[in-house]
Formats: sequence, structure tokens, C-alpha cells
Amino acid sequence: MNKAFCREPDQSRAVRCPACGNEGLVVSTETLAAHVAADVVERLGEPLAFCGTDTCDVAYFDLLERSVPVAEARGLPWPKDPGGSLCACFGLTADDVDADIVAGSVERVRDVVRRAGQPGTECGLRAADGRSCTARVQRYYLRRRAELTG
Ligand SMILES: [Zn+2]
Repeated sequence: MNKAFCREPDQSRAVRCPACGNEGLVVSTETLAAHVAADVVERLGEPLAFCGTDTCDVAYFDLLERSVPVAEARGLPWPKDPGGSLCACFGLTADDVDADIVAGSVERVRDVVRRAGQPGTECGLRAADGRSCTARVQRYYLRRRAELTG
């Protein structure tokens, strides 16, 4: 048979969100299980991914485009949940950062960014995307500092 007809599936293909089309962040079953009900975990198959798009209603999805909406997941951080935490591991919220920016203090934000970036933190499980909260905290901080201080 011609080789073109029996090509291996392309493993390098990005896992794309069925709703917004952006590349997802692959997560473990443990991370998924920490944020959705047990029967929802059963519905999806690996590889599993988290959609990081701010405005997208999809939280998790798999290669077969089965997805879990944001409304069915719990404990999602900002920006999926606008009132959610920035770093569940260290309990930093959007309000905390806003207050610090207004007060001109960066100590708390700097401390969380430093600690969240270290190995052995719980971010892998508690963060919805299974990654360190460092990038999310920095993204929010820079965005809000520009908004609040002009
Ligand atoms: Zn999406």
C-alpha cells in the first residue's frame, strides 16, 4: 500500500478548543477531577486540555471535541471566573491585587509570584490549567496597574 495511506496520526498536532479554536493547555486527569464532578471526568478522554481563552465558555475539552463548559466546572481562576482567585494555592484574589495597586504596594504580589514559581506548590492540582499561577498573577497585575494608574 502507498505510504501516504497509512500515515501515523500526527502526535504533534495541537489540541484545539472546539469553541474558540485556540490551542489548549494539556492537563492531567487529576487536575480535571479537581475542578469538575466525577461523572464529567468519565465523559472525557485523554489527552485532556484546558482552554485559557479569557472570553471562551469552554473550560476543558478532549481530542474528540467533547467539552465541559465553564458553568459546569468549579474553582476556576480569573479570567474564566471574573470574581475567581488569581492563585488558589496562596489565596490571592483580584481584589487583593487591586487594593495593593491602589496602595502602591507590590510586596504581596511579588511574594506570591515568587512562591508560586517554586516546585512543590499545589498549583498543579489547584490551578485550573495545572500550571504555576505566576503567569496569571503577573498578567492580571500588569493589566490592572495600567488601568488603575493610567
Ligand atoms: Zn476555548
